Amino acid sequence: MTKLRLAIVGAGPAGIYAADILLKHERSFDVSIDLFDHLPAPYGLVRYGVAPDHPRIKGIITALREVLDRGDIRIFGNVRFGTDLTLDDLKQHYHAVIFATGAVRDADLDIPGIDLPGSYGAADFVSWYDGHPDFPRTWPLEAEQVAVIGNGNVALDVARILAKQADDLLPTEIPDNVYQGLKTSPVTDVHVFGRRGPMQVKFTPLELRELGELRDVDMIVHDEDFDYDEASKTAIETNKQVFVIDKVLTQWRQRQVGQASRRLHLHFYAKPVEVVAGPDGRVAEFRYERTEPDAAGGVRGTGEIRSVKVQAVYRAVGYFGSELPGVPFDEKRGVIPNHEGQVLGDGDEIMPGVYATGWIKRGPVGLIGHTKSDAMETIQHLVNDQASWWNPASPSEESVVELLESRGVQYTDLEGWHRLDEHEIALGEPQGRARIKVVPRDEMVQIARGTAPVE
Ligand SMILES: Cc1cc2nc3c(=O)[nH]c(=O)nc-3n(C[C@H](O)[C@H](O)[C@H](O)COP(=O)(O)OP(=O)(O)OC[C@H]3O[C@@H](n4cnc5c(N)ncnc54)[C@H](O)[C@@H]3O)c2cc1C
Repeated sequence: MTKLRLAIVGAGPAGIYAADILLKHERSFDVSIDLFDHLPAPYGLVRYGVAPDHPRIKGIITALREVLDRGDIRIFGNVRFGTDLTLDDLKQHYHAVIFATGAVRDADLDIPGIDLPGSYGAADFVSWYDGHPDFPRTWPLEAEQVAVIGNGNVALDVARILAKQADDLLPTEIPDNVYQGLKTSPVTDVHVFGRRGPMQVKFTPLELRELGELRDVDMIVHDEDFDYDEASKTAIETNKQVFVIDKVLTQWRQRQVGQASRRLHLHFYAKPVEVVAGPDGRVAEFRYERTEPDAAGGVRGTGEIRSVKVQAVYRAVGYFGSELPGVPFDEKRGVIPNHEGQVLGDGDEIMPGVYATGWIKRGPVGLIGHTKSDAMETIQHLVNDQASWWNPASPSEESVVELLESRGVQYTDLEGWHRLDEHEIALGEPQGRARIKVVPRDEMVQIARGTAPVE
């Protein structure tokens, strides 16, 4: 029976689901899968994006882990595609590759002042508070007033983590340096700005409702934003999510405020215009234009410019994929160009043996669950394309291990992940916490490879 040797680059949910779906798929060939990730630990944004105070979503890791623990997928962590391993290498050792490399960068926001000191991308902040090994371990939390630009779930995550009392994050898996950083934050006011009305937001009701449950934080909404147009009224009547969002916001409009030490302000119909520097050259003010409904479901500017004094700005206007060496890339959309997961080369022709799935295929929108349907589509093509797979010179399972070792790549494997996992859980135990994440990459690798000095 033919054996498909498959490389998957990216051990986030998209990569793991793709492996799982292929193994369960009806097919006329055997399969052997190697999963590569440049991080020493698997699970992508579930580990390094989903907020630490969302344990239910973090719990998806348990399901992903069950797939890996079955033992029919090999995992190679701490291996970066593009430097440790190239497309030519993969062609030597595999019949096909699926790229599932997701997105970790912030999309740009083209307004004056967005690059001033004190202006940050949400993705960088998320990587800091979720303990990503490739980001600085300290974060400058010096601002009392902060602007968060965006009206999606990531904007609400950032606003919530900034406004939340650090002690309320202690039961989570946040690293110690993150707790210490947040504990000293002098923040009093977090302002969230959305270009459109409250009934056109991208965040979900659950994320919104959570803001209202923060201890010692008042929710501030403004009556002028609730003069609904016909489109908004129809949305409330016909869309359950919008109905719930309206209900939550209506409750907040009736709440007594004034006692809490921190405030979280929601500003709708507010289009970002400029970030203004103070005399020290740092962020001092955020300017926005008031918008209004345009009767076609969108908004238009009113010309009225408003501003708030802030000392920090976080833009949460979306993520963006990164280009991989030797792999086609759509610069505009930040994705690998593809037709239903079959990667397209120059002239849009299908590249044999090369596939994409997850956020790098579809763009950085959608929940973890969506990466499953993505993977099904990609796998269906991979299975049907058997005639055009690559013809590798060294397809044996040992050959790729030899290659990594000859290059001195300190790769981590599934057993190593178990070691790291147990280590993190043990770190949390004395403090009654589920786990405490290990952040530095070299420490993660040493623990995973069993080469860490015994304490
Ligand atoms: C801040 C934030 C919060 C979120 N919260 C939720 C939530 O609460 N609920 C929910 O359902 N969804 C949430 N999502 C969405 C969810 O994280 C994504 O839908 C999902 O992670 C996308 O999966 P993926 O596998 O395509 O990408 P990723 O999860 O990004 O995984 C990609 C993997 O590829 C690896 N990789 C990248 N480049 C290379 C390379 N060159 N070589 C080797 N490996 C590489 C990365 O290290 C990573 O492990 C959130 C997203 C963000 C950004």
